[in-house]
Amino acid sequence: MSLQLFDTHTHFDVPEFDEDRQILAEQAKQSGVNALILIGFLRERFNDLLHTHEWLNNQGNIVPTSHLAPGLHPFYIEQHRPEDLDILEQFLQTHECIAIGEIGLDTFLKQHKVPEVYEKQKDYFLKQLLLADQYDKPVLLHIRKSHADVLQQLKKIKFKQGGIAHAFSGGVEEAKAFVKLGFKIGITGQVTNPNAKKLHQVIQTVGAENLVIETDCPDMAPLCCQVSDATRTRNTPENLYYVLEALAQALNIDKDILAKLLWNNSVQTLRLNTLTIV
Ligand SMILES: [Zn+2]
Repeated sequence: MSLQLFDTHTHFDVPEFDEDRQILAEQAKQSGVNALILIGFLRERFNDLLHTHEWLNNQGNIVPTSHLAPGLHPFYIEQHRPEDLDILEQFLQTHECIAIGEIGLDTFLKQHKVPEVYEKQKDYFLKQLLLADQYDKPVLLHIRKSHADVLQQLKKIKFKQGGIAHAFSGGVEEAKAFVKLGFKIGITGQVTNPNAKKLHQVIQTVGAENLVIETDCPDMAPLCCQVSDATRTRNTPENLYYVLEALAQALNIDKDILAKLLWNNSVQTLRLNTLTIV
């Protein structure tokens, strides 16, 4: 059987893909990407997210199947308004959504560490976790320099829906704590970088049974696909194959066996159990 891969985190709806989305979607499918998630970050983008989702699912099986996860991203906290949460809830009621994402905390920028800004991030995170609980949805977490606080929020409300800790950048103990709370650890093209020591330790510790893969396109291009003279190379869903390959090597597991395991981890976490491969 040919490979069956699940790209658990994409921004394939963004304008960077407007010109060649069709061909990229077909190439992704040919390289084994059978399904992908389109993830929200700003309320203004929800319509485009939905439009790309419907467009993909109207093409039949020459492109990956699309799943929706709307959410309000902590990095764009200054732009979110209270009514955006109502619009998010309406969106959940009106459209079939697989999860809420991406949500979480991000203190990478100095301006986000300012107490009132960080409090706003925590407030939007908490409210979206409660929405996820209310609508029985897993969440796709964005966590940057805030692992302890994200874990604290999840524990505080005894969050039971699980989900994916996307583009994981924490350490071994943090990874174990997320796994204990029912989360899978999302691995990006960073796994292709042998110098990403902390990430490789996390991978070895939690093991294949707790991992899923993602491109996070258009960001996080695998090393092999980066253009040396470019400040940033656009990542595409097709590159998911290189994430699989590097992860198989890191775990010393056969690529096909690992692919099946990762697919099943993804569909179980996202509650698409009918798609489990036996
Ligand atoms: Zn993202």
